[in-house]
Amino acid sequence: MNIISQKARDAGVVGAGGAGFPTHVKLNTPAEIFLVNGAECEPLLKVDQQLAVKYAHLLVRGLELAMQAVGAREGIIAYKAKYKEAIAAVTPLLASNMRVHILQDVYPAGDEVITIWMATGRRVPPAGLPKDVGVAVNNVLTLINLARAVDSDQPVVDRTLTISGAVASPITVTVPNGTSMREVIARAGGITVNKPRYISGGPMMGKLLDTIDQPITKTTGGIIVLDEDHVLIKRHLQPMRDVMAIARATCEQCNLCTELCPRHLVGHELHPALIVRSANYHDIGKPSVLLSALTCSECAICEQWACPVGISPMRINIALKAKFREEGARYVGDLRPLDPMAEHRLVPISRLIARLAVGVYNKKAPLDESHFEPQRVELLLRQHVGAASLPVVQVGDTVSRGQLVAEIPPEALGARLHASISGRVEAVTAHSITIVQGDTP
Ligand code: SF4
Ligand code: SF4
Repeated sequence: MNIISQKARDAGVVGAGGAGFPTHVKLNTPAEIFLVNGAECEPLLKVDQQLAVKYAHLLVRGLELAMQAVGAREGIIAYKAKYKEAIAAVTPLLASNMRVHILQDVYPAGDEVITIWMATGRRVPPAGLPKDVGVAVNNVLTLINLARAVDSDQPVVDRTLTISGAVASPITVTVPNGTSMREVIARAGGITVNKPRYISGGPMMGKLLDTIDQPITKTTGGIIVLDEDHVLIKRHLQPMRDVMAIARATCEQCNLCTELCPRHLVGHELHPALIVRSANYHDIGKPSVLLSALTCSECAICEQWACPVGISPMRINIALKAKFREEGARYVGDLRPLDPMAEHRLVPISRLIARLAVGVYNKKAPLDESHFEPQRVELLLRQHVGAASLPVVQVGDTVSRGQLVAEIPPEALGARLHASISGRVEAVTAHSITIVQGDTP
């Protein structure tokens, strides 16, 4: 393991863009190009675009370290043109082997398969990884965390996230990992609807939360508050049996979901219209068509944008994925030709915002990094891809902010966890470690 990767491992750096893949593993894999995904194309989320301005030097330093670790000859920072301040902040800092690539303001420019294609012209094969085309990708916050880990031995203990939607003052805050979502949401000045529901993540790919009495993690990029009657919440609440019933009753086989599927556009076999048809007729059709559901990015274009009759091919894909994963099935298929219209079929963000009925909430959410220290944090042992971390503290131990509290299991893929506040360990379970303030060493 190279020293940069080792430091990323020590600091518990994971992909902050959503999946939480352990960064040290990525930094041990050779790549020709290191790509910073600065697209942040989910409406209402304003984290990376603001951090990229404030911490431009750390971002470029993180890119430099990442390039060194993987042996990349070129570093690319992919931004949308509208992130003018971020572009202006990084441009003077770039080395001769780095450049900014301007992405179209479309969705899903931030899906890494699409970002890679737009920024490098390379196409990741279906069920493949960026490394298959010589590229490594991380988002802005991940590289900032890497620079802090390598140059200052700073572990990942905080998370920056946007609170938006039906709140009095949308805001982007930095809080200790493990802070209760309820406490973080309160920082946005109060909820403005009567029957609030909560989405973790963006309006397209976010997940509906059962409760906000749960902790934020290293991968929580935003929380959106919406009324229970909002169209997006209704979509989330639709039971699977209704999804299937609507698909059976109303699919016109118009093929729009396939024609607008970003993965299909870049040459993947994934064909949501055929998957819906197969599911409607008891899984008939080529086995690879159904298996290609495993390559769905869950970008929601098919359900939120393409389908004219309210069908959700994505939900059918998600159900199929769960079934296939249980069976241990894998998709194997070749990359096909690029759709000649691909560039023009991605969705303009302004139109997407209107379609999602979130225009009224598309406001600034200014970055507020004032000190915030909760009384209690709950650190989930699994907030990354791989095995749950193993606690190395016990109930009653006193810990300092930044101290290691859970280790990667031997020989496993995983990430370390560190105390995000100083205090006393109140509970250690199979699921989490809880720390309360007080009794510090
Ligand atoms: S969610 Fe729909 S549009 Fe997006 S990749 Fe999956 S099938 Fe394609
Ligand atoms: S867009 Fe809707 S109606 Fe058209 S093929 Fe896809 S699921 Fe069927």
